[in-house]
Amino acid sequence: MSDCLFCKIVAKEIPATVVYESDRALAFRDINPQAPTHVLVIPKLHVANAVELADAGDGLADDVLRAAHAVAEQEGVSEGGYRIVFNTGADAGQTVFHVHAHVLGGRSLTWPPG
Ligand code: C5P
Repeated sequence: MSDCLFCKIVAKEIPATVVYESDRALAFRDINPQAPTHVLVIPKLHVANAVELADAGDGLADDVLRAAHAVAEQEGVSEGGYRIVFNTGADAGQTVFHVHAHVLGGRSLTWPPG
């Protein structure tokens, strides 16, 4: 999608600190981190939100979740615990409509989120 920020990151037209890449997923550090580990995991395919990711089928959602766990392991937060967040829709705070899993960890995370 030509005007999508995260498609531009996939296309390397906008810089990002990539920490993990597979055939169908890409993970990069959030530019405004909310925890010591704050990485965004996206499918390279443009889909807007979590349900579109599920509807894309062909194991794409599985790939994104596996990539999120691989990032957590790589960052050393998988044993202590980490959070995967899909903000879905404007009321949830979604600002980029290319689905992304926030992988947050490295500190004690409170609940409920704000
Ligand atoms: O869930 P939401 O859509 O609000 O998340 C978008 C995230 O993308 C934000 O946490 C923001 O800091 C991040 N971002 C980024 N790199 C950009 C633009 C936004 O990491 N170039």
